[in-house]
Amino acid sequence: MLIAALDLEGVLVPEIWIEFSKRTGIPELSRTTRDEPDYDKLMRGRLAILQQHRLGLPDIQEVIGAMAPLPGAREFLDWLRERFQVVILSDTFYEFGMPLMRQLGYPTLLCHKLEVDETGVVRDYTLRQREAKRESVRAFKALNFKVIAAGDSYNDTAMLAEAQAGILFRPPQNVIDEFPQFPVTRGYEELGAAFLAAAARI
Ligand SMILES: [Mg+2]
Repeated sequence: MLIAALDLEGVLVPEIWIEFSKRTGIPELSRTTRDEPDYDKLMRGRLAILQQHRLGLPDIQEVIGAMAPLPGAREFLDWLRERFQVVILSDTFYEFGMPLMRQLGYPTLLCHKLEVDETGVVRDYTLRQREAKRESVRAFKALNFKVIAAGDSYNDTAMLAEAQAGILFRPPQNVIDEFPQFPVTRGYEELGAAFLAAAARI
């Protein structure tokens, strides 16, 4: 019994904040955990910028709704779902992820939640749990599933290590250097082959 756990941003869809920053023309919103390692500080800053530009959730969702998954992502995901139980484990928020999930055929997404007031202003955010990607993999294992996980960056490495098999997809060089134990894939065909190889091995 196998679960394929996929990261979302950088694997199936573009980096949402970076794309959002481009589309809204607000460069400060392109800051990521690479620029500000304190996630809470980063998110508070983002929420303040949204308020300052009077961007409420409906505006944000309109922008995100116009984004598209990465080329070939939908076809890859459909292929994978025919062969595995697929779960997307992401550190994004449902309010951001769902407009993109529509274009991916509504796969299962486990992520976090924003707190939005009745006027559409994003007031706060709620992390479902700390280390959610890794803890989700751990929970699937407790349910007697074997897990093959794939992701593109640093925040995926704990989930890749927790899974019976981990695969990197288009990772930055520092992640490749620091985690040589994970195979590196560059395209969806290669990623699919890596899933099949891992499934035969574990
Ligand atoms: Mg990612």
